Amino acid sequence: MFINGNWVDAANGATFEITNPATGDVIGECPDGTAADAIRAIDAAHAAQPQWGATTAFSRADLLMEAWRLMGERAEPLAQLMTKEQGKPLKASRNEVAYGADFLRWFAEEARRITGQWLPSSRPDQRFLSVRTPVGVVAAITPWNYPMSMLTRKMGPALAAGCTLVLKPAEATPLCAKAIFECFHDAGIPDGVINLVTTANPEPIGDVFTSDPRVKKLTFTGSTAVGRVLAAKAGANLQRVSVELGGHAPFIVFPDADPEHAAKGATALKFLNSGQACISPNRIYVHRDHADVFIETIVARVANVKAGNGADDGIGVGPLVNEAAVAKVAAQVDDARANGADVPVGGHRLTEHGLDRGHFYAPTVVTGVTSAMTIYREETFGPVAPIILYDHVDEVIDLANDTNYGLAAYVYTRDLSTAIRAMEGLRFGIIGINDVNPTSAAAPFGGMNDSGLGREGGHEGIDEYLETKLAGIAL
Ligand code: NAD
Ligand code: MN
Repeated sequence: MFINGNWVDAANGATFEITNPATGDVIGECPDGTAADAIRAIDAAHAAQPQWGATTAFSRADLLMEAWRLMGERAEPLAQLMTKEQGKPLKASRNEVAYGADFLRWFAEEARRITGQWLPSSRPDQRFLSVRTPVGVVAAITPWNYPMSMLTRKMGPALAAGCTLVLKPAEATPLCAKAIFECFHDAGIPDGVINLVTTANPEPIGDVFTSDPRVKKLTFTGSTAVGRVLAAKAGANLQRVSVELGGHAPFIVFPDADPEHAAKGATALKFLNSGQACISPNRIYVHRDHADVFIETIVARVANVKAGNGADDGIGVGPLVNEAAVAKVAAQVDDARANGADVPVGGHRLTEHGLDRGHFYAPTVVTGVTSAMTIYREETFGPVAPIILYDHVDEVIDLANDTNYGLAAYVYTRDLSTAIRAMEGLRFGIIGINDVNPTSAAAPFGGMNDSGLGREGGHEGIDEYLETKLAGIAL
């Protein structure tokens, strides 16, 4: 763990093992922190806050730029580590390192644009001045699926705003977190400004984060179930909260779309990170006129996606995070089958050629999906593309909106009016229009309804870490 500028063990000396999800091999161990360690980390962040908050935006920007540069310099070892610990193919790990580093550069630039306002009054002898100040100590909890970029997406704006922080990474991917903290340490981050608490047992740490009055903000990325509980605990103490949660993205192929192009896009998007992405499409609505071409294309492409150890050449999908994830995916596919769906490709776990040592499920297409099936409502977080045929364009937006989630949605169309109507009608935070990668450090990312509160990235991303202070001035 990294507390007050030092790499330290858990106070009780406990450790836990980290395994490679493709092979089951133990690849390292980490301190198994407890509430006592979380308190120690908050002590350090709290002590460092006044001085860090008083640094100039220019010096904070320089530090973030140096951390960005180090991530670039170490891109290859970082990507190798990510593949070993999280499982995604090496090419995807390289992309994530670049995407993750980009948040540091973006928020280095944004740091210098934290400004105030000079405001008019209804009284001629009065002026108002508003300024932005750091919220204070931030507690961050991050997931395993994007084990580096989900850290930098929080650390970049928190540090740019002048906040200190304590971070608890997912128990599956603490080594990736450690590697990111090493970049900051080597960039010269002052002691106590960033603190890392690793643990195999997150709940007591979450309790400390949400109950310690010195913590002013909680930022969480993970499941809706956990985010809801943590946001409620934080709310009881009036901590500021942003939570990026699950999704159930619709992917609409309109009659005026090119079905082959759309099927290629759907394949590229769905199997990214083995489907373990909160913006992964979970309901693919295809107009009946396009059914044959779309299904033929996606089935042919999925049949060619090679599953295996992400460190090997030519691998398109890696393992799932653990056995529970494999069981969840299998249960959804089995439920769809039992309710009349077809599975033209995949639909089983993979065990041959040594894959039984890891957590592999075959890239799968399910057709004939209906609202009676679990997969229609429950997030899959696995490599399964569920296809639903529809007949009427004027109904499909309502179908797409029929979810408690509201993170990402995708539309394929060649008609500008269809695209704009869809964007306006869909209740989601992120809409991809003929675009399977609607994300960037420069763009606000986040969801509506059960997909969370707040936005990360973009100009909006730093607002979550800033307070507004107003001075009324009588002349
Ligand atoms: P999870 O909620 O179990 O875990 C996420 C984090 O929360 C981990 O660090 C974990 O250790 C921690 N955690 C779990 N229980 C906790 C508790 N009781 N108290 C404090 N911390 C706790 O989620 P998961 O199953 O590991 O990850 C997958 C989920 O994350 C999916 O639902 C996915 O959609 C979501 N996700 C969302 C985004 C986004 O940006 N919206 C990004 C990535 C993942
Ligand atoms: Mn979990």
